[in-house]
Amino acid sequence: MDARLETIRDTVLARNPGEGEFHQAVTEVFESLGPVHDRHPEFLEGAVLERLCEPERQIIFRVPWVDDAGRFQINRGFRVEFNSALGPFKGGLRFHPSVNLGIVKFLGFEQIFKNALTGMPIGGGKGGSDFDPRGRSDGEIMRFCQSFMTELYRHIGEYTDVPAGDIGVGGREIGYLFGQYKRITNRYESGVLTGKGISWGGSLVRPEATGYGTVIFTQEMLKTRGQSFEGQRVVVSGSGNVAINAIAKAQGLGATVVACSDSSGYIVDEAGIDVELLRQIKEVERGRLKDYEARRSNVTYVDGGSVWDLDATVALPCATQNELDGDAAARLVRNGLLAVGEGANMPSTRDAVAVFQDSGILFGPGKAANAGGVATSALEMQQNASRDSWSFAHTEERLTEIMVGIHDRCAATAAEYGDPGNYVLGANIGGFVKVADAMLAQGLI
Ligand code: GLU
Repeated sequence: MDARLETIRDTVLARNPGEGEFHQAVTEVFESLGPVHDRHPEFLEGAVLERLCEPERQIIFRVPWVDDAGRFQINRGFRVEFNSALGPFKGGLRFHPSVNLGIVKFLGFEQIFKNALTGMPIGGGKGGSDFDPRGRSDGEIMRFCQSFMTELYRHIGEYTDVPAGDIGVGGREIGYLFGQYKRITNRYESGVLTGKGISWGGSLVRPEATGYGTVIFTQEMLKTRGQSFEGQRVVVSGSGNVAINAIAKAQGLGATVVACSDSSGYIVDEAGIDVELLRQIKEVERGRLKDYEARRSNVTYVDGGSVWDLDATVALPCATQNELDGDAAARLVRNGLLAVGEGANMPSTRDAVAVFQDSGILFGPGKAANAGGVATSALEMQQNASRDSWSFAHTEERLTEIMVGIHDRCAATAAEYGDPGNYVLGANIGGFVKVADAMLAQGLI
């Protein structure tokens, strides 16, 4: 890392102790930014990095709610409003027991650059709670969401901060959150949340967008080597919204997706995953992946273990941060891996990224490859602002244009900075320069 940047990075780490994932995300971005500061000394003079690493506002709050047995429960809620240089804070809410301030900050920090890369007018933020939705009834989910919004409503707004979904937060939760916001404020403010239902201000393609976008980005990377998804053997991790839609899109482009996982284990289906069955089990029944085995022939369910023990030509990590380590990366590369497209945020450890980059395979980092979700959220905001709703075909076309645009910008930036094919460099520099220019233009904020 550039020595000037290392000093700044060390200060960031020291004043944010114990936030391992945030440290990791900051370090990874700083490693790309040395050459930018040679060309743009004004970024150092303007203390852009110091400002960028300090969120504009961080909100932590108590979320009290009552479970079905009548017991009082307490969780912790977060919203980190990281950077609004390009637009209102924008980013999802994650409900998962692992959520803490460091996780929300890593996600919010990544979101700044991701959102900049989309070319849409959105700043970066993230939030969530350590609430565990697993095994909770609909009523419990609703009461939790209502309590969460009872505090959050005063901090958000169409022109201020626009939350959406992430792990553990989908259409159902956005519905309960929106209903409570409307009730408290007495305003039908569609643009305050994205990921809404189609009949009440949502956008077509938003549910598919992150998974589809990851595959579109990966397809663009494959094209640079004269290849495509046709005939690829794909392994996906996760079985949530991102994974399911990545599987659907990859198979639509002629690949065979042979495996996906949940937190208990993974399935291997050599004939290619039956996406409709997977949707039925995961989205309709809210069941576990193990149920898939009993309902389709020639499927193996592996209890525990890692889906990255399987061989693939394309790997799409769509589960969670740091799920794919250096050893798994080395094994995948030895066994014929061509490309990785990150559907999740920071799913590859730093060791894994180093292995992928050293081996010269195509590696699409999450902040570029999974930007289709938030980009389509911005399209939802655009439709809300004009009180319009677009067709599936039109919205999908916009998503495709945006993903191809992100790919091309990352590739061009990497080449401009002397390391063609390095999408990590391209994404970090491409996102950063846009935000840095806007910050300098807006004065000391
Ligand atoms: N949580 C998603 C992400 O990681 C989407 C955020 C949004 O739509 O605002 O980018």
